[in-house]
Amino acid sequence: MKIDILTLFPEMFAGPFDNSIIKRAKEKGMLEICLTNIRDFAHDKHRIVDDYPFGGGSGMVMKPEPVFEAVEYVRGRDRGNSVKVILLCPQGRVFNQETAKRLAGEEHLVLICGHYEGIDERIRELIVDEELSIGDFVLTGGEIPAMVVVDAVSRLIPGVLGDEESYVNDSFYDGILEYPQYTRPREFKGMEVPEVLLSGNHEKIRLWRRKMSLKRTKERRPDLLKWEDLSPEDRKLLEQAKED
Ligand code: SAM
Repeated sequence: MKIDILTLFPEMFAGPFDNSIIKRAKEKGMLEICLTNIRDFAHDKHRIVDDYPFGGGSGMVMKPEPVFEAVEYVRGRDRGNSVKVILLCPQGRVFNQETAKRLAGEEHLVLICGHYEGIDERIRELIVDEELSIGDFVLTGGEIPAMVVVDAVSRLIPGVLGDEESYVNDSFYDGILEYPQYTRPREFKGMEVPEVLLSGNHEKIRLWRRKMSLKRTKERRPDLLKWEDLSPEDRKLLEQAKED
């Protein structure tokens, strides 16, 4: 997958994509991340990319021409492939694991990071396919949201994580939270690892984990659990969890 990030602050991305899993995915050629400075598409010698809002008010608005031309430029470099242009924006649909899964199937994403008071409205209308928010709060720019989206999407590209299991069991992957995890030592500050996890009985372990996932989801995120969507096995496990 190719991801183009259009930003006024490309330096902000030094670090997050040069470590760990994302770094490995880039090295293996599974992921290509290109940073483009929107300022390179400014029209004047002072490289101005923002201006006062029509109608008055505080702050500056990003001018449409540099953003439009930056998108045209990265799109033009990748003729033939389907391109999805995403604007990071607090007014967009809230990004979640479902969206990450869907975007992991795309060939080429273009992420536009806004700054200041945001981007001239005509950009949304002309070239944006989708607007994504990372939550109901306002950040200074779209750079951190872009990092969040790239990280969440990249780890779902087939082959990026060594073991596919590691995202299939993750929280939200199938709509509920993950079960509690333990590693060595077996006893820590007087607290024992649950006996079932040491039993070697795969079916018992699977059932315990599923039960704990359901219980945890019911306690912490009841909004994610719909009784009518649960399988008979899940309903039974949830009933059992009440008695534990
Ligand atoms: N005036 C805008 C509003 O009220 O909707 C907020 C602009 S914000 C200060 C500047 C930029 O940060 C936005 O254009 C967007 O790219 C990014 N941004 C801020 N909060 C965000 C969020 N929760 N999700 C995604 N992007 C966000």
